[in-house]
Amino acid sequence: MFTSFMIKYAEIGIKGKNRYLFEDALIRQIKYALKKCEGEFVITKTPGRIYLDAETDFDYDDVLEKLSCVFGIWGICPIVRVPVCEPEELYKACIDYFDKVYPDKKKTFKVFSRRSNKSYPLDSMELNAEVGAALLDAFPELSVDVHNPEIVLTVEVRDRIYLYSEMIPGPGGMPVGTNGKGMLLLSGGIDSPVSGWMVAKRGLKIDAVYFHAPAYTSERAKQKVVDLAKKVSRYTGPIYLHVVNFTEIQLAIYENCPHDELTIIMRRYMMRIAEMIAKETECNCLITGESIGQVASQTTQSLAVTNEVCTLPVFRPLIAFDKEDIVNISKKIDTYETSILPFEDCCTIFVAKHPVTKPNLNVIKKHEQVLEDTIDDMIQRAMDTKELIIATDTE
Ligand code: ATP
Ligand code: MG
Repeated sequence: MFTSFMIKYAEIGIKGKNRYLFEDALIRQIKYALKKCEGEFVITKTPGRIYLDAETDFDYDDVLEKLSCVFGIWGICPIVRVPVCEPEELYKACIDYFDKVYPDKKKTFKVFSRRSNKSYPLDSMELNAEVGAALLDAFPELSVDVHNPEIVLTVEVRDRIYLYSEMIPGPGGMPVGTNGKGMLLLSGGIDSPVSGWMVAKRGLKIDAVYFHAPAYTSERAKQKVVDLAKKVSRYTGPIYLHVVNFTEIQLAIYENCPHDELTIIMRRYMMRIAEMIAKETECNCLITGESIGQVASQTTQSLAVTNEVCTLPVFRPLIAFDKEDIVNISKKIDTYETSILPFEDCCTIFVAKHPVTKPNLNVIKKHEQVLEDTIDDMIQRAMDTKELIIATDTE
């Protein structure tokens, strides 16, 4: 029965002068999400509210599903809109609404009215009482409970009259594109897609980089990362995924550096290259899926040594998360099943049996010196040969 929705937003409501930027970004993301739905929609912005009207037939569940991926949406209220009319007509509309939405009438309810159109003959108190009385007359099984009702029917009298009583929660957060852009180090694991999703939820647009070590890592491992980027793009919009060939650097480290330091040295070069791409693409931060103590390269000492190569801020949204909590989010955002596919990524092949857990920065730097004469060229080759894949969930 619903062909219109009121979209409520939370935090973007408090952005003062810049509010329109947030609203416009939200509308842009809603339009992007709805492109994947059948039907024609019109989006209207009024102060503090966004309305969505379906102009043709559409799939209600599909629309709600797509909107549930749009950051910045606090809640989605299916609404019925009627022209400003005589009170008697309004009561009929409310009765009709109730009848259709609640087949079972054995409920407690209250009416919550707001009248911003002051020319309407009844004020909000009168509306509450009169609409309530009309509903009780029509459906004697209903009962009023003003403190803890099962149903709150909201009646808003504005340019038109809006009736609604349900709110489907949205994902919260802020619209993607309102908080700059970050470069996500995306591996095929469970953590990094969750990490990208979390920062995107705060309004960041996401680009990504994947370090691929062909021959040692398969095409299927790369495809898995592309698939993960596509899954995350349901929330973020298209993700520009840079695939860097890391084999030469990885082998050079493997052949020249102490094996217990392989991972940490490799991570430093990954961060360095990720930062170069980030700067080229105007990202203002790096994002990883690291979490304290998860593996040897994620002790606080290791993180400090990895961090040392970066000048951009590195965001690690999962830093204090337990694995179980990360897994739960990955299931919720539907990346888990892809993440647990078995294909090796480059970190799992070149791992030492006993990696250092408390690396010393000076020692690591000294051991990196063996690469001094060759590393810049290798990095340049990696930069020159990188491949760009645009990951979207629409194809
Ligand atoms: P994930 O954290 O995604 O589950 P992981 O547990 O294997 O992967 P590590 O290998 O310790 O994690 O890597 C830590 C972080 O470094 C990852 O979360 C990711 O941000 C980044 N990273 C690791 N390997 C790669 C890679 N091959 N390409 C891009 N980023 C990577
Ligand atoms: Mg991890």
